[in-house]
Amino acid sequence: MDNRGYMDKRVDGIQSSAFPTLADDHIEFLRRYGEVRKIERGQVLYREGDRSYDFIVVLEGDVEIVDNFEGEARTIAVFGARRFLGELNMLTGQAVYLTAMVGRDGEVLAIPPINLKKVITEEPTLSDIILKAFLARRSILMRAGTGLRIVGSRYLKDALRLREFAVRNRLPHVWIDLEDDEGALALLERFDVKPEETPVAIWQGKKVLKNPTNAELARAIGLNVDTSRQEIYDLIVVGAGPAGLAASVYGASEGLSTLSLEAVALGGQAGTSSRIENYLGFPAGLSGSELASRAMVQADKFGARTTVPQETVGLRREDGCYKVTLSEGGEVIGRGVIVATGARYRRLNIPRLEEFESVSVHYAATEVEAQMCEGAEVAVVGGGNSAGQAVVFLAGRTSRVYLLVRSDSLGKSMSTYLVDRIEGTENIEVITNAKIREFLGDGTLEGMVVEDNRTGERRTLEARALFVFIGAEANTDWLKDTLKLDDRGFILTGRALDCSILEERVWQEFSRDPYLLEASLPGIFAVGDVRSGSVKRMASAVGEGSMAVRYVHQYLAEASPPS
Ligand SMILES: Cc1cc2nc3c(=O)[nH]c(=O)nc-3n(C[C@H](O)[C@H](O)[C@H](O)COP(=O)(O)OP(=O)(O)OC[C@H]3O[C@@H](n4cnc5c(N)ncnc54)[C@H](O)[C@@H]3O)c2cc1C
Repeated sequence: MDNRGYMDKRVDGIQSSAFPTLADDHIEFLRRYGEVRKIERGQVLYREGDRSYDFIVVLEGDVEIVDNFEGEARTIAVFGARRFLGELNMLTGQAVYLTAMVGRDGEVLAIPPINLKKVITEEPTLSDIILKAFLARRSILMRAGTGLRIVGSRYLKDALRLREFAVRNRLPHVWIDLEDDEGALALLERFDVKPEETPVAIWQGKKVLKNPTNAELARAIGLNVDTSRQEIYDLIVVGAGPAGLAASVYGASEGLSTLSLEAVALGGQAGTSSRIENYLGFPAGLSGSELASRAMVQADKFGARTTVPQETVGLRREDGCYKVTLSEGGEVIGRGVIVATGARYRRLNIPRLEEFESVSVHYAATEVEAQMCEGAEVAVVGGGNSAGQAVVFLAGRTSRVYLLVRSDSLGKSMSTYLVDRIEGTENIEVITNAKIREFLGDGTLEGMVVEDNRTGERRTLEARALFVFIGAEANTDWLKDTLKLDDRGFILTGRALDCSILEERVWQEFSRDPYLLEASLPGIFAVGDVRSGSVKRMASAVGEGSMAVRYVHQYLAEASPPS
């Protein structure tokens, strides 16, 4: 392959897995699934924005991958013989980001997307090569300065919302900040947009969406927002963090028609983690977004239907099925439901908090937030592992990190490996017995006053951003009137439920106690962080998600079929 543009740099680990060469026997195997076509210089094989396109293996000649933003063609890469084209969107149904144009006459093998899915399920070696390449290409695209353009000010909440949506969903995009990008105003002018109409998202260099909702943006770029409202699914999984993703993968792979609904982005809280180091099988750690992408491909491979963004707002039992109400209107119907809506971070009680939220006060420490405070002093509040990870990550990107802990020492609720790393990093300062009293600044944070909660002594920190990791609240507002919750709002399951519920009519049909992960209505299961008494770890969330599917099978076998 002749590499140009961003790909003409050193071939690192990602690059080599992104652009593999297929062996003769792989190509022979693939011939059964597609047809050979002649190609001629200048011919377009697929165009930016196409919703569906063939998986192309180049047999002879060259195909160029071109970025066509505003009609300015930029060749990103050239694929020669034995290389294959395609990217993650072939499996997710997202529209394609770049155009494929023939550079040199030859021949290709074209495989329709439906057959590609068959290859992926039937041939493990090829499946591995293709999936690894697709995931690696998405990582490269995320850094390549291509795809969606999001233009706005870093001080606008909606601009940050759109940017976060793009980052968390791993949508290739370019963030253009009105505050310091000289070309931003000229770009807006070319698209006839006034600065006060920002944020805008520009798709395919033509379509301008002014301050779209996440769902509008998702629809424009072809994410699966809409669900079939006609079908009765065997299983509806609400939430696609680690627990929900595991439930979808196991549900679909075990033959259940599975619909997965996610309000924000696949990966849940884990998706906001820069590096998870204690997940089994990944000794070097892996980022939450990488984990989410891999799980998404896996769920898709087994036929689970995933829709993002799709928030659920209600749940009720009717005719032996469950009707799940969606925030955008309408309902979907499932025979069994797994609730995996996890938890969200608690907020601090400090005057003017809202004024700084999203702009300078954050509840995640990912690449997006790190870029916003690069080189500055920042503070992190919290004493658990997520605070510890954030501190270590931010220490590499900022000049100084203050870790504010309410108790008198670190290590009470943080893993030893993180405590050791914090203690060994020069630009981290741990302040114990700390309580934030006051924010300084107007619109953006310029510092904060911190008080020693034993002595009352005060100190001003010149921190330009605050990262908050002080425990979580369950995402169960939508279930308050439906399921039994504990006094903190987490869902009660199995033996934690009061046996008086068995007297309720709905349980009498079943004449048994609730299963281990079953909630107060038969056929509804709660897994992961949202479950009362859960361990709040990724591995346990994944374990519970997969385990619950077994109980769903048992429930479906005993429940009467829908009328
Ligand atoms: C920064 C950070 C670092 C972490 N690091 C580690 C680590 O190193 N090791 C470890 O073991 N654990 C770690 N954790 C904890 C781990 O991520 C969680 O235990 C795990 O993500 C829980 O998974 P879950 O699927 O139960 O819930 P979540 O991950 O919370 O996912 C729930 C999902 O449900 C969605 N949702 C919520 N409400 C609705 C609704 N009404 N409709 C549709 N969707 C909805 C949310 O958007 C979310 O995507 C970390 C957490 C954070 C925040």
